[in-house]
Formats: sequence, C-alpha cells, structure tokens
Amino acid sequence: MLVFSDVRKSYRNLEVLKGLTLSVPRGSLFGLMGQNGAGKTTLLRIAAGLLALDSGELLVGGIDVRRDPARAKRLIGFVPDGFGAYDNMSVAEYMSFFASCFGLYGRSARLRTEDLLQRVGLSARQDSLVTELSKGMQQRLSLARALIHDPELLVLDEPTNGLDPGSRFSLRELLGELSESGKTILLSSHVLSELSEICTDIAVLDKGRVRATGEVQEILRQIANSNPLRVAVLNGEKTALRMFRTNPCVRAVMQEGKQFHLEFIGSPEDEASLLQQLIDAEVPVKSFVREPGTLESFFLNMTVGREERIIVHDEDESDM
Ligand code: ADP
Repeated sequence: MLVFSDVRKSYRNLEVLKGLTLSVPRGSLFGLMGQNGAGKTTLLRIAAGLLALDSGELLVGGIDVRRDPARAKRLIGFVPDGFGAYDNMSVAEYMSFFASCFGLYGRSARLRTEDLLQRVGLSARQDSLVTELSKGMQQRLSLARALIHDPELLVLDEPTNGLDPGSRFSLRELLGELSESGKTILLSSHVLSELSEICTDIAVLDKGRVRATGEVQEILRQIANSNPLRVAVLNGEKTALRMFRTNPCVRAVMQEGKQFHLEFIGSPEDEASLLQQLIDAEVPVKSFVREPGTLESFFLNMTVGREERIIVHDEDESDM
C-alpha cells in the first residue's frame, strides 16, 4: 500500500531521513517504532502528503506522490499528534467542516458524520464543543474526521500519547475493528508492548533509517530464538563449562561461580538437547531458564550500541 524507496528528507542542513526504504503491505496494521527524533513524524507526514520528500520515491497504492499528489492524498486519512485549536465549534460542525473539504455537503455529509460518530462512540456528543471533550474523545473525533472521505490508508502519529488506560484500550479496539474492515493502518508509538498487541507488522526506525522490519510474529520468534540462557548447577561446573564451550548454539559464556549466563542462539529443541547433555553427564542442574523475549529487548538490540547495553561480568575461571 505504501512503498518508500531510498527516501531522503532534510530540514535545512539536518538530514532526518537518510535513504529510507520501507514497505507497508496492504491490509496490515503497521507499527513504526523509534525513539524521539528518529524521524517517525517526518516519515508519517511525508506518507500523508503533508511534507515533500527531497529525493527517492514514494508510491501510495501504486501512485507516485510526486506525479499525482492529489490522487495519492485521497487514499489517506491522517491523524496528527495533537488535536489543534478549534474553539467554539461543536462536534457536528467540526465534522461537517472536514466533510466539505472533501466535497461532501448536506444530507450525504450528515449521514456520513452520523455513521462515523457512531463508529467512534461519540453519537451522544454531537452538540458538545470539541474543546469540552476529553483527550480520548478528541482522539476518537480526530479519527472520525480522518475517515470522512473513506480512505484506504489511515496514518496515525503517536495516537495513544497522553491517553489514560481506558481510552488507550478503546482506541486499540477501534483500530482493530478498522483493520478488520479492510483499512491499512500505519501508526507510530514508543509504547512497544502496545504495538506487539495490535500490530501485524512493525519497523524499527533509528536515526533516519529502517533497522528491521517484518511481521510481528516472525520478529517475536526471532527474539525467542536469540534470548540468553541462565543455568545454575549445584556442582560439576567444570564439566558444564566444557559442554557450553563446545555447544554450537552457545556464542559466549559468562560464569559467576556455579551460575552461567549463555548467549544462546537456538530453538527450544536445541535448548532441551543442551539440558539433556548436562543430565547425561550427571551434572546436577539447579535451574535452567531461557530469558523471556520482549519487543523492548529487540528494539534495544537494534538501536542501542552494544557497548551501551551489555553489562558483562568478568568470566570467573577460579575453579578451573
Ligand atoms: P520523531 O517523530 O521520531 O520524534 P521527527 O520526525 O519529529 O522525529 O524529528 C526528527 C528530527 O528532525 C528531530 O531532530 C527534530 O528536531 C527535527 N525536526 C523535525 N521537524 C523539524 C522542522 N520543521 N524543522 C527543523 N527540524 C525539524
């Protein structure tokens, strides 16, 4: 649905997107992860047609945004981070204003507004001033507004920012429903657990480049297969250490007395076979734990320098 190829964007002499290549599949609920300043808003604003790219190519539903920006824009609904200032405007007036921007007037605008307000749970608030709505309601209204021209793609910049847990939950439900109804959704967030819960695909953006991208399930599987192992033995640590050093899945061993921390790249079957080897060699294993993988650990692996994240214990070989 969206294909960025080698896209570059600078603000004066600050290059924010540095040859970014990314594909958002049609029908996906796509999460963009990245720390502040990574370039998420810039990428989303380019996707929404609000910012021009300096070089590279962006196809929206197969349309080159530089050749036919108006047609590309009609395919997209954008929900920015923040609601903007709309004093003295009721919910219904707000919706009819945006409907008119897309050539919808009178009865068709009214019917569309009623349908959308019902979808986002704001039917009872048509006459309220938009400034009287809670942040969560404003976010849902913003979503209804972005859907006014029935776009194929919805782009949301940090949609859950500043929302209380209840509002986050209802927004997530709403995005899930929209995704099921066939919309492609691209959203950014730094709350990674949220992305793994609702997204089908994710990309990690770091310093203007995509470091990793793929289906969430596949990425979670990769995480699970690269998590460290913690092993503690009652004795027989020399035998255990020898086994760890010769096991092909073990990349590094850190030992603290009778406890081992292994960098282990392998499947649950590889894990079980290592445990079996220890048992066969009659090493009394006190505990054998694969650390749980999280999207956070994946994100840190992708974006933070190794030297910044690894706390290494000196290998203690005193029992050798
Ligand atoms: P993110 O959404 O990941 O926090 P942004 O795309 O907002 O990242 O910003 C990326 C970088 O570009 C930041 O260093 C930011 O300060 C800078 N930036 C963003 N917008 C502008 C602008 N209009 N003019 C100059 N610099 C900007």
